[in-house]
Amino acid sequence: MLSPEARRELCDLLPRDQVIFEPEALLTYELDAGHQRGSPDALVLPEERTQVQSVARWAARQQIALIPRGSGTGFTAGAVATQGGVVIGFSRMKGVGAIDKEGRLVSAQCGVITAELDRQLRRLGYFYPPDPASMSVSTLGGNIANNAGGPHCFRYGVTSNYVQGLEVVLADGSCLCLGGPVVDPPEYDFVGLLTGSEGTLGMVTRAWLRFRRLPEMVKTMMATYKDVAQAGHAIAGMISSGFLPSTLELMDGTMIELVERYLNVQYAEGAGAMLIIDLEGHRESLEKQMEELEALQKAYCPLDIHISQSEAEREEIWVGRRSVGGAVDRFGPTDARLDVSVPISQLLQALQGMAAIANRHGLRIAFLGHAGDGNLHPDLFFQDSPQDAAERVEKAVDEVMHYCAKLGGSITGEHGVGFEKREYLTALYGPGELDCMQEIKDIFDPSGLLNPGKIFPTIRGETAQPPVAMLAIPPSPFLPADAPEAADGLRLFQDEGIPVYIRGGASKWRGDPDNGVLLSTQALNGVVRLSPDDLYVTALAGTRLDGLMVHLADVGYWIPLATPWPQSTLGGIVAANLNAPLRTLYGSVKDCLLAVQVALPDGRLLRFGRPLLKDVAGYAMSRLFCGSFGTLGLITELSLRIVPLPRRRASLAVNVPDIITGLEWARKLNRMESLSSGLVLYTGRATMGDESMVGMRLVFTVEGHPLDVEAELEMARRELEGSGAMGIVETETTSAASCWERVLAAGEVVVRSAVQPGKFLQMVSSLAPWPEDCPSLLDLRAGSLTLSFQDAEQALGIMDRIGTVAESMGGYVCPVAGRRSLLLNGKVWRYRSDSIDLMRALKIRWDPANILNRGEFIL
Ligand SMILES: Cc1cc2nc3c(=O)[nH]c(=O)nc-3n(C[C@H](O)[C@H](O)[C@H](O)COP(=O)(O)OP(=O)(O)OC[C@H]3O[C@@H](n4cnc5c(N)ncnc54)[C@H](O)[C@@H]3O)c2cc1C
Repeated sequence: MLSPEARRELCDLLPRDQVIFEPEALLTYELDAGHQRGSPDALVLPEERTQVQSVARWAARQQIALIPRGSGTGFTAGAVATQGGVVIGFSRMKGVGAIDKEGRLVSAQCGVITAELDRQLRRLGYFYPPDPASMSVSTLGGNIANNAGGPHCFRYGVTSNYVQGLEVVLADGSCLCLGGPVVDPPEYDFVGLLTGSEGTLGMVTRAWLRFRRLPEMVKTMMATYKDVAQAGHAIAGMISSGFLPSTLELMDGTMIELVERYLNVQYAEGAGAMLIIDLEGHRESLEKQMEELEALQKAYCPLDIHISQSEAEREEIWVGRRSVGGAVDRFGPTDARLDVSVPISQLLQALQGMAAIANRHGLRIAFLGHAGDGNLHPDLFFQDSPQDAAERVEKAVDEVMHYCAKLGGSITGEHGVGFEKREYLTALYGPGELDCMQEIKDIFDPSGLLNPGKIFPTIRGETAQPPVAMLAIPPSPFLPADAPEAADGLRLFQDEGIPVYIRGGASKWRGDPDNGVLLSTQALNGVVRLSPDDLYVTALAGTRLDGLMVHLADVGYWIPLATPWPQSTLGGIVAANLNAPLRTLYGSVKDCLLAVQVALPDGRLLRFGRPLLKDVAGYAMSRLFCGSFGTLGLITELSLRIVPLPRRRASLAVNVPDIITGLEWARKLNRMESLSSGLVLYTGRATMGDESMVGMRLVFTVEGHPLDVEAELEMARRELEGSGAMGIVETETTSAASCWERVLAAGEVVVRSAVQPGKFLQMVSSLAPWPEDCPSLLDLRAGSLTLSFQDAEQALGIMDRIGTVAESMGGYVCPVAGRRSLLLNGKVWRYRSDSIDLMRALKIRWDPANILNRGEFIL
């Protein structure tokens, strides 16, 4: 209950129609799509960010809980006032900012309906890939808070893969810009952390979201099988053949039966499973791809295969998939719609195991799944009354959750934990990991006013003290043989306040530190598990990327990452978050990282995330270690997403007369491409070490199905010729990523800078005259510039010039590699993050003696 004074103050903050106390009006806000009810004390409907800040300051003064809410479509009571408090509804914050086609970036307010943003982009030939089935109702803020997924996530990834920046109001009413319109600012990845944090760390008021070019054509296949086992084999066969459909949806026999009754159709007599597969590509290649896929499916004895011949037929197939919710509600009654995730290779076992659990409790079960990424939505049914079934349903849900966790899966793939699943979080995380998440919560929201009662289990268990084996301080260099030894060593260094410099391949920062201990990950080397069927590899942090790539190539896979330095280790690559142009097709380093094991300076050894394609249980802690340059903890092991090797990769390379013309040509290619893994302009002289690369050249790389590659290169060639380009060369030896690698490897000191892609041309023009004596790489789509220098003095001079220009446009400049002594120069870290206070608070919490990687990074 709000006190009269609190009510009065709240009413003074906002216009009357934005503050609601009437119980009838509040009824709608007592529930989301889950079960748990909760009566809010009031509802506020801010229309702009400053109003959100005023309400937060009021709540902080009055110590009143705030429950952020989008459209209330969440399934876990995440947006419900389970402990009272004020619901802050974002439905009126619906502004969409300018659409930056260069960088494929748009800023939008949190209350924008997901489908509305997608509609606006489609009108321009683009689309927003995260597509929860609720997208016609749900908000971007809710999607971000829950890290929503959808059918297209198998190919395109989940919401977090598309969030580049967030404007956030914290519990004390302050407003921060995390990340933003510029790629990879050197700061802790609080964007990744807040995505999926379910409104418990901050209120998202605006987001900078990436989007993609629409494929030229989409075709849909509906294949039915006698049972899920047969469909499961067909899925495995497809993935191992390197097919990357944009959707791969699975329904079991019970679900098919419900949909058939609901729509009054029959898909195939006796169908025990159905797959709905979308393939995308260029018109010329899609027919052929479908033929290949059909031949492949036939090997698994389908009952029937139907391939859409028109948009209307595609729509007809998808109506069946979209009718699942309606069919279940009509013929249920269902009491539990679950959202679990399992390794793809365990899909069949998981379906059978869950069916057995339902059976044991006298319940029916029907499945819908995003089979490509192991995310399943089982629905539990019963014949008797909800009251009579309640206890059995509860037991079955509990068993299903623990069963999936035991299979290596997660208690939630996309819906979030909220209130209803919070007790199950202990099936995935021990007290150590949960304590660590609580420490984050305490830094962001020390009074616990934001969405209380969500995510964290009420009972966590006791945190065990880290085992102590090492009694004497190890000498430098310290080469721990395993993760426990590394953690133990760190604890001793912390106790003695001895600085520790982490070294992976020593590729970025050369030279020994003047004091302290060098911790080398050299002995933490090797693959722990390679699971092509589940599309991941787990390896120790000191494993070199080049060796691992050879190993992966033997089985037809790769990690879509690049490094200019052969000795680079996985831990070092992740800690530095250094992204090659590949990011536009495959996502950044962060998007490849699925799970980590880390040692904190106090000796805690913790695991965050699971090697799953979809998992939104708890905070995305692993993201914090990506791009934090080893200042928060030592990564000891990590799991990375792998993808089938592209069947063809080829590039067009062409000389350009000057930088501005080159960027104009790049701009044209950028507007037409949909499969490009890089579009860069490099400048450099003989320092490139390859005669064919001397000069100023534009390189455009495409990868995927050979016919798609051919079609896209042909389009690009026409575009370039139309612009007056001459001497266009097609090559399979040079790619945008290899140019990036060469530029980085060319000098002693490497520097990078970035601005919003839409301002990149302006930035480059402002830098005239161009420093032609150093190799440089311009990535128009990322809005980034990388330069190599032979000596530090030259680098510092140009950094100053670039920094002044970039900063005036909201960008930054920062060092990438050089001699360690350069880090001591006070001028190199000029960027000041909006989140610097939070960064420092976290650093002090985990590394109070400031032992880790002193001097690196902006802290
Ligand atoms: C029929 C149906 C189909 C669905 N299909 C899918 C699907 O395919 N994939 C999927 O992922 N989910 C799906 N969902 C679940 C749900 O739609 C998503 O979780 C969605 O992201 C919630 O958005 P919302 O705007 O309704 O958020 P809400 O339900 O209002 O809130 C969800 C969470 O986000 C927090 N929140 C909301 N706005 C903000 C903000 N601005 N800042 C901080 N925190 C905020 C809330 O506190 C709450 O914890 C489905 C739901 C339904 C009913």
